[in-house]
Amino acid sequence: MKILILAIDGLEYNLVQEFSLTNLMQQQHGTIDVTEYCKYHYTDTPATPIIWASFITGKMPEEHGIMLNKKYQSKTLEIARKTAQAIGLGRIRGKARVLRAFGAGKLTKEGIMQNGPEYYHNKGLPTIFNLAQQTVARNVPTWNYHQDRNLLAEYFDGKIDQHRLTVVLNLQLYADFEYAQKTAQTEYDLMMIYMESLDLIGHAMAGDLYTMQQFYKTADKLTAKLQKTIPEDSFLLIASDHGMQPKGQYGDHTNHAYYSANQPLEQPPTKITDYYHLIQKILAENP
Ligand SMILES: [Zn+2]
Repeated sequence: MKILILAIDGLEYNLVQEFSLTNLMQQQHGTIDVTEYCKYHYTDTPATPIIWASFITGKMPEEHGIMLNKKYQSKTLEIARKTAQAIGLGRIRGKARVLRAFGAGKLTKEGIMQNGPEYYHNKGLPTIFNLAQQTVARNVPTWNYHQDRNLLAEYFDGKIDQHRLTVVLNLQLYADFEYAQKTAQTEYDLMMIYMESLDLIGHAMAGDLYTMQQFYKTADKLTAKLQKTIPEDSFLLIASDHGMQPKGQYGDHTNHAYYSANQPLEQPPTKITDYYHLIQKILAENP
């Protein structure tokens, strides 16, 4: 059986429900509480790299070591400031602005998003990519993430307008699904494709429900198209790391992640660390 994971950053359960997006819901769906991850990040919100690291290893941050907690606060802020200067953020009016510009603390350079396979290898930590023969990982945080976050920073800094932001993120969403569509036709056992657009548009415009609906509808439509073309015996898992809620016109992470599967699950995941074992079980039972 082939396993295809769409890792959709920030995909919010409540919005999937509200917009009745049946393709994103698939056969079985639900939420996973990620409140416990707040303490590993200095902004006290569940943060992307930390959660995806737990997703791919099945381990909590104490074990995989990827976290940004209060202990490291001053160091991290200094890096954020330096990075902001390097990308020309200009006048920095304090830490809230910096953090907002980076999407609740994600860093574009020197960040934990780009740790890489050698990080896990050196720690002796297996990941889901060790569980299968032929694997594909696209832009997976802390594994082979290669995008930068300049776009959001530029938006918050007034260098690009709302229209440009939505156009670029929309294109990115189409490109991600196109990659999935194309690669799903090749030989693989396990494929994980990370998509960032819904998180970024949420940070910038979660207060604008119409725009959010447009993006969610696009993701739902492209999911339907993908579902029709993947091999019949594929296991399609859609998972997010956290959700998104409005904070004024902007947005912030919620404490629940989303999942949906195209097949019934005997034991649905209740923790992020369950995914590793779920994938291991499916691969073992369906060689
Ligand atoms: Zn985010």
